[in-house]
Amino acid sequence: MLSLQGVRYAWPGTLADCLDIAELRVGAGRSLFLYGPSGCGKSTLLGLMAGVLVAREGQVELLGQDWAALPSGRRDARRVDHVGVVFQQFNLLPYLTVLDNVLLPTRFSALRASRCAGTPLQAAQALLERVALPAPMWARRADALSVGQQQRVAAARALIGAPELVIADEPTSALDAALRDDFMSLLMHACHAAGSTLVFVSHDERLADRFDDRLSLPFLNRAAA
Ligand code: ADP
Ligand code: MG
Repeated sequence: MLSLQGVRYAWPGTLADCLDIAELRVGAGRSLFLYGPSGCGKSTLLGLMAGVLVAREGQVELLGQDWAALPSGRRDARRVDHVGVVFQQFNLLPYLTVLDNVLLPTRFSALRASRCAGTPLQAAQALLERVALPAPMWARRADALSVGQQQRVAAARALIGAPELVIADEPTSALDAALRDDFMSLLMHACHAAGSTLVFVSHDERLADRFDDRLSLPFLNRAAA
């Protein structure tokens, strides 16, 4: 599903590699927890996996396609077809309603729209129910929701149209403990139901038990100081 081979990445304007990864493979439908302290390169690695960043050496293949072999416009189109993303914060377009935020991937990707069970609107409503967001909130502007509610909307948006890969970059770090546990359960159940592979990064090792596989990024990364 996802395969990294001999990957090196250096940020523009820097001399030393930030990441140097000999090999990493993630199987279809698996959930992987990648952990390590702040600054160890977790977000950089997710950027490479999602084709937002391009390795200077090696291959990062999603579904057998190396991101570096595509021009940037094709990378953007391929990303919205196959990848759902949840960030730490600022996930939603604040002036759009909850429903319109969830529907966004289906507006940019015919593939994601075609994979919805029923219409995209029905799929969005089903996902919002799955992440326990009550119907009276669906027509509200995204910025009228609490942070915990916004993260659940972001999870629904990442999952609509069942992308093969869902990547989550510390999505629970703005949540308190009770909300964090709820969110983790909702995210993992929703990924499982969609058949999506989940790559989740965090510095919080307490979350590790919930995943099929666990990897320490400083251990994996040969460029780690
Ligand atoms: P993490 O997500 O694990 O906290 P990051 O991937 O954000 O780590 O950062 C890894 C390293 O790359 C850090 O040393 C950071 O300073 C550097 N870095 C991150 N983003 C940029 C950027 N846009 N430009 C230059 N260096 C960056
Ligand atoms: Mg980060």
